[in-house]
Amino acid sequence: MDFLKSGSRPHSIFAVNPEKNFLASKDSVLSETLKNADLLIPDGIGIVLAARILYGIKIERIPGVEFMEDLCALAAKEGYRAFVYGGRDEVNRAAVQILEGRYSGLEIAGRSHGYVSEKEMPDLIKRINDSKAEVLFLALGSPLQEKWFTAYNHLLKNVKICQGIGGTLDTIAGNVKRAPVIWRKCGAEWLYRLLAEPTRIKRQKVLPLFAFMVLLGKFKNLLKGSQKFQ
Ligand code: UDP
Repeated sequence: MDFLKSGSRPHSIFAVNPEKNFLASKDSVLSETLKNADLLIPDGIGIVLAARILYGIKIERIPGVEFMEDLCALAAKEGYRAFVYGGRDEVNRAAVQILEGRYSGLEIAGRSHGYVSEKEMPDLIKRINDSKAEVLFLALGSPLQEKWFTAYNHLLKNVKICQGIGGTLDTIAGNVKRAPVIWRKCGAEWLYRLLAEPTRIKRQKVLPLFAFMVLLGKFKNLLKGSQKFQ
């Protein structure tokens, strides 16, 4: 991946889904961080459908967890170091152990749980810099991880890629189960997650509104198109 070879600044990679899209409409820091991101991953069937309906673009859904796994495999192969920041301490520790076992040669040069206070932040930044990690995984959930990136990325000395991975460590550690492959293929991973964790309804209640906004957008585009030919 070119980001690892080009320049000295950290490149940001964040996943987008309909919930985050709504959050961004009310949160200017999140919105700016996403706009300025070096790469946005369509981690949500809603985003894939919206791109197709609104712009006629066919994109594939890329779950953040799979992107992270690919990045780990690449880091192991090419000898890049990683730092994993986020999640509860026991989850972070377990996930790091699993990743090191899964990707032979992967050097996780440092790790930290995700409950670091403002006061402790300079210490954490120093640990990240001292680890010489080129890849930083931010597992704080949204919008915390995006805000962290915007606030602190200028202090990172070696990091070339910073991927926001949300609750992925919980999945790797086995605390949260991913949907079986058949659900994923049908684009229903969100439904599986909702059935497994009904409290997520608070976040997912924006989905019907998202669908409505996309259809409204499509209708407006059609209207504009027909006016052009009048
Ligand atoms: N988390 C954290 N620090 C915080 C708040 C949350 O490290 O101050 C972690 C939390 O332990 C969990 C993750 O962030 O592992 C959030 O997971 P969630 O599935 O809610 O995030 P999403 O992927 O939906 O953004």
